[in-house]
Amino acid sequence: MKLYKILWLPVVIIIVLFSRCQLNVSEQDYDIINNQWQQLKTIKDGGLLGERADLWRNQRLWNIAESGYLIDGFENRPGVHPWQGEHIGKWLHAATLAFNVTGDEKLKQKLDEMVGRLLATQLENGYMGTYDKDNTFMALPEGGGWDIWTHRYNLYGLLTYEKYFPNKKVVEACKKMGDLLIRYFGKGKYDLTKYGTRQGISSTTILESVVMLYERTLDTKYLDFAEYIVHVSENNPKLRLMGAMLEKESVVYPGDGKGYQLMANLLGYLRLYRCTGKEKYLKTVLNGWEKIHTNHLLVTGGPWSRHMPYNGNKECFAHIDAFHPEKVVVEGCCDATWIQLNIHLFEFTGEAKYFNEAEITLFNDLYGHQYTDGIEWCYYTAPNEKTPKYVPGYHCCGSSQPRVLEMYSSHLAGVINNKLSINTLNPSTIALTSQFSGGRIKIEGGYPLKQSAKIHFELQKSKSFIMEFRLPANTIAKAVYVNDEEVLPLENSRGFMEIKRKWKNGDMVSIDISYALKAHVQNGEEGKKWIAFTYGPFALAQQISKVPDNEPFKNFTQDELKQVLKSFSRQSGAKIAFTIEGMDITFIPYYQTDSKHSGPRTYFEINNKI
Ligand SMILES: [Zn+2]
Repeated sequence: MKLYKILWLPVVIIIVLFSRCQLNVSEQDYDIINNQWQQLKTIKDGGLLGERADLWRNQRLWNIAESGYLIDGFENRPGVHPWQGEHIGKWLHAATLAFNVTGDEKLKQKLDEMVGRLLATQLENGYMGTYDKDNTFMALPEGGGWDIWTHRYNLYGLLTYEKYFPNKKVVEACKKMGDLLIRYFGKGKYDLTKYGTRQGISSTTILESVVMLYERTLDTKYLDFAEYIVHVSENNPKLRLMGAMLEKESVVYPGDGKGYQLMANLLGYLRLYRCTGKEKYLKTVLNGWEKIHTNHLLVTGGPWSRHMPYNGNKECFAHIDAFHPEKVVVEGCCDATWIQLNIHLFEFTGEAKYFNEAEITLFNDLYGHQYTDGIEWCYYTAPNEKTPKYVPGYHCCGSSQPRVLEMYSSHLAGVINNKLSINTLNPSTIALTSQFSGGRIKIEGGYPLKQSAKIHFELQKSKSFIMEFRLPANTIAKAVYVNDEEVLPLENSRGFMEIKRKWKNGDMVSIDISYALKAHVQNGEEGKKWIAFTYGPFALAQQISKVPDNEPFKNFTQDELKQVLKSFSRQSGAKIAFTIEGMDITFIPYYQTDSKHSGPRTYFEINNKI
C-alpha cells in the first residue's frame, strides 16, 4: 500500500464511522427515492386504448362488483374458492384508477361501499381473509393455502384506494393486517416460505404490499419485516430469488419458475430498493427483467410458460428449448405483472424502453385475452391456437389485467426533470399543472391503428419548457411539425424526443411515424425454429379457425427467408393487413385474430438447418 493511502486510512474510517452514526440516527427518516417520472392526470383516454378500457369499466367492473363474488367470502366465511379473496384487492386497485380518469360518481359510491364492507369483516386480531378459523394462516402457518395471498391483495387494493381518498380507518386496518403477519412470520416466528405454494413464492409476493405499508406509515417495523421476508426467501434454497438473480441465473428455478409470482416478487424488490437504497435489490430486479426479456417473451409481449419435468406446472417459466407455439401458454396474470414491472421501472428511470415493453404487451397479448363483450376473459392464450378460451367466470387473470389497462391509462403523460413528458400517441386528454402554465394537452389521431398524431396545446398562458415525446417501439419519426414549421427533435438519453420552445395556446405538434416491419426467429423444442413478424408495436398473425395442415415457410432457403419481408404487401384501406406474394396468407394485428370462432397463428416453422 502506498504511503498516501495509509495516511488516508484513519480519515476514511472516521468518515465511515460518522456516516454509520448518521445512518443510525436517520434510519427512520431515510428518504424514499422518488420516481423520476411523475404522472399528470389523464382526463380522457380515447381511441383503441379508451375502447378497451371502457369495455372493462362499463361491463366487467360492474359485473363482478354486483355479483357478490368480491365480498361474499369475507362476509360469510369460508369463501367458495381458495383464492376468492384476491379479487376485491385487485378490483379496488383497478376501479380506483378508473375513477381517477372517469370521475364517475356512481363508481366512487361503489368503491366506498366495498371498502366499508371489507373493513367491517376484519377480526379484532387483524385477520381479513375468507377462510374459516381452522384454516386461516394463523391456524395452519405452514399450510398450502392462499390466505396470505388474500392479505397481499387486500393491502395493495386498500392502500391504493387510500392514496386517492385519504382515510385513517383504512390505514389502521392495513396496519392491523401487517401486525398480524409480523406476529406469525416476523423474526423468530414461522417461516413464511413454508406457507403457500411453489416453495413459498406465492406468499413472498406480500413483500410489495408490506413495503407499500411502510411507504404509507413510515413505521420501520414494516420495512424491517420486508427485509426479513427477503432473508427467509434467501434461506430457502428452492426460492432464493435475489441470490439467483444476482448470480444472473435462470428464472426457471426460483419458486419453480412460477411466472406471475416471480415477477410479483420483483415488484417488491423494486419498492424495497426505493425505500432502502440497497443496490442488491435493484440489481435483482434489473437482472430478472433482462432474463425474462431475453428468453421468455413472445413477439406479442406475453411471457410464455410451459409445464416441463424441471418446473412446477404450465404457469412456470421454461427454457427456450421447451418453446412450441401450440404448447406454450401465456397466463393473463403474467401479462399483467410484466406490464406492471415495466411501468414501475419506467416511472423509476424515465427510460422509454420500459414503457415500450408495456405497450407491446398491452396492444397484443393483453388485448388478445380480453373478449369484446367486456365480460369474458381468457385465463390462458397460446400464440398459435384456433380459438382462445374466453370464459365469463371470475379468475385471477380477468381480475389482474384490468389493473394494467388502468395503469397504462394513468401514465399517458408526466413530468420529468421539469420537462413535459408525453408518453403516448394514443388519442387522449391530459391536464397540465401550473409549471406548464395550466390548461391541457389533447392528442388526436388514430394511433396505434394509424401512424400519426397531433398534440394540441390548450394553455392558459405562454411558457418556455421542454416537451418530450416517446416514439412507440419499432417506429421512426418521418416528420415532426410545430404548427407549420418542420422541426428535428433530438433524442435524449432516455429514448424520448425533445422539443424546446416557448409554447403558446393553440400550438400544435404533428407527428408522422413509420412502422418497421420485422421478422423474428425463435428457437424451440427438438431443435425446431419458427419465424414471426411484427409491424411497429403490433405482432402480426394469420387468422385461423382450424389447425393448419401446411407450413408455408418451411422450405424457404436462408436467402429466401432474408428476402421474405420484401414479399409482404400492405393492403390498401384503413385496416392493417399484409398479403404475401404467391401465398394464401393475410397477416393482421395479433389481437384482431381473436374471436369465438378464430384465433392466431403467430409462429411459422422454418427449416431448422438455417
Ligand atoms: Zn391468472
